[in-house]
Amino acid sequence: MAGRPKKEDSRDNQYRVRLNDDENEMLDYVSHMTEKAKSEVFRQALTELYQKTKLAEARRDFAEEFSDDEDYEPSWEEEHVSLQRAIACPYCGHTHMMDFSDDCSSTSYERSMGPEVLYEFDYEEYACDSCGKLFRVKGYISEYPMGCYNHEEIDVEPIDDEEEG
Ligand SMILES: [Zn+2]
Repeated sequence: MAGRPKKEDSRDNQYRVRLNDDENEMLDYVSHMTEKAKSEVFRQALTELYQKTKLAEARRDFAEEFSDDEDYEPSWEEEHVSLQRAIACPYCGHTHMMDFSDDCSSTSYERSMGPEVLYEFDYEEYACDSCGKLFRVKGYISEYPMGCYNHEEIDVEPIDDEEEG
């Protein structure tokens, strides 16, 4: 006996996702600023990562196919993950646009979908554009597969306070 016809785009699959406080804050922020439902934020992030992973797979397969051909050059530009971040001054909160690709070291490790690239940076004395105090920005951003954000850790430490103490 046939059941009710399924709606074409019905969302019958449920996932429960646990978030820590930082992640929850990020979700609130993105949802608020983009005026998107929180569920939509997850779906869009998933779709973007899916498309990028498909591209990375295609790149890997092409690279394997043409690895013996010295004249072969891929027709696309290699697209890497963004190293631009908005960093707040730890003293006054002023926001700085930083592009860590200006000064970083990268190392890569071969994995099943190609290399995982680790971009590391350490800006030891960065002067705030607003209050002029010095702070340090240190951390890394990991890319895997190519073009896809993997994870990051960026520490912003005040320097001026230590000298006074
Ligand atoms: Zn400042």
